[in-house]
Amino acid sequence: MAKQTAPVKKNETITLSFEDLTHEGNGVGKVNGYPLFVPYALPGEEATVKVIKVNKNFGFGKLIDVKNPSPERVEPPCNVFYKCGGCQIQHMSYDMQLEMKQNQVKSVMRKVAHLDHVPVHSTIGMEDPWRYRNKVQIPVGEKDGELITGFYQKRSHHIIEDQETCVIQDELNDRAVEAVRRLATRLGISAYDEKTDRGTLRHIMVRTGRETKDTMIVIVTRTDKLPHKEELVKELTETYPHVKSIIHNINNKRTNVVLGNKTNVLWGDEYIYDTIGDIRFAISAKSFYQVNPPQTKTLYDKALEYADITSDDVVIDAYCGIGTISLFLAEKAKQVYGVEIVPEAISDAKNNAKLNGITNVDFVVGEAEKVMPWWKAQGLRPDVIIVDPPRKGCDEELLKAMTDMQPKRIVYVSCNPSTLARDLRVLEDGGYETKEVQPVDMFPQTNHVECVVRVELKS
Ligand code: SAH
Repeated sequence: MAKQTAPVKKNETITLSFEDLTHEGNGVGKVNGYPLFVPYALPGEEATVKVIKVNKNFGFGKLIDVKNPSPERVEPPCNVFYKCGGCQIQHMSYDMQLEMKQNQVKSVMRKVAHLDHVPVHSTIGMEDPWRYRNKVQIPVGEKDGELITGFYQKRSHHIIEDQETCVIQDELNDRAVEAVRRLATRLGISAYDEKTDRGTLRHIMVRTGRETKDTMIVIVTRTDKLPHKEELVKELTETYPHVKSIIHNINNKRTNVVLGNKTNVLWGDEYIYDTIGDIRFAISAKSFYQVNPPQTKTLYDKALEYADITSDDVVIDAYCGIGTISLFLAEKAKQVYGVEIVPEAISDAKNNAKLNGITNVDFVVGEAEKVMPWWKAQGLRPDVIIVDPPRKGCDEELLKAMTDMQPKRIVYVSCNPSTLARDLRVLEDGGYETKEVQPVDMFPQTNHVECVVRVELKS
């Protein structure tokens, strides 16, 4: 066979026409059938591109100049959009973002799950797809004796310094980060330095309840020494009226994980409250809580619609977090069982059941893939199972336990279409049929998409 060579060379400048988008939102253009992936290029555009990487079967390019901007191209409102690793698709109209996400899901349903016939509905978008995030976790660095906060530049741990504001973040969170940064600078608290593993302040995390406006500030440091604690608390509580909880978290590991194992309450409660629909939730620092409150309601409503619970049903909510979906299910079902790996989240979940006077739920701490087979061995036979795993999807043991339990219906909530499609294939082979997929835009301006899927036992 003749050795194939790429038709382009590294550092070469070419003119390229774009016809498609990758799952990441990069433009795809071809030179004699050889695809080049170019961030920020849109289908229908022709552009000058510098080739920056040449692999055997595909390459990467940098967008230099667009000759005929697509009607879907918009001006990104963020001043650091082209540098920051947070958002990827602010340059696309919102309609195009929603369509791209639907196509992304359709493509994995076809290529990975081999379920071409299953309807993938249009992505449910937001009316106002900005300032939706209720939580920020921002790294702290130092420059010219001042503390700086900013997201990391793409594919690096270099903090972006000149970000004016984060346009997908709740303004209250933005302001709280700024307040902590200024105060810590004034009090002479040093920033943590990854290279030397010295210094104090690693991250500032802020979470604000959308409905309640309650704010939790989490200060993450390398050791349990946080200098000038009292002044920090005094000033923050005096100048920042929304704050209800100030937490000190200690992370002494050389890791990308933001929070460490130890948390101390510096001031206020160890949790804040928020409400979704008619249910009130207490949320502590280490618990997962969906980041986009208006869309969370949409997502849960869809999950409940697909679950179609009756008052005789026994339901399992696997990967239940603080019991959000579980409590909505409990309002309709006979009995709900929730399982979750983070002990603090289960303690929140139990607390939340009490807070809302809900008694027909049982929450267990553990790995869902271990607890589900155990429940099965105990004779538990749920009518409906909901799963909402992290990005890596469900474990094989968990999928097996689910199909062995033979619930009439499974609702799969997923933040990663690829692992979702992989797992749906396993469920299909285990006697289940995927009926419909609903993408929901939980993360506007980014290339992430959430899905809810209705799966039924084959008759
Ligand atoms: N359904 C919840 C949480 C979804 S996020 C909500 O909507 O709020 C996924 C959750 O799975 C997180 O809370 C995470 O801590 C938990 N988790 C991760 N791995 C797990 C495992 N192996 N077993 C059980 N829970 C796990």
